[in-house]
Amino acid sequence: MKYICIACGKEITEKDTIGINKKLLGNKVKSLYCMPCLADYLGTTVEDLNEKIEEFKEEGCKLFS
Ligand SMILES: [Zn+2]
Repeated sequence: MKYICIACGKEITEKDTIGINKKLLGNKVKSLYCMPCLADYLGTTVEDLNEKIEEFKEEGCKLFS
């Protein structure tokens, strides 16, 4: 399945990016953001999102497996 960032049109290929979108925006979300756009949308930073991804991975979240 191919995802395109709805904000900038960039193709999203990173599994982690897809995972964090689903984790933060909802599992059924169809419109995904790339990392910089997601950070922008949420009013946070890419570094912050990467930290969150690591946290979710440590929790064993299956969106990131
Ligand atoms: Zn984008």
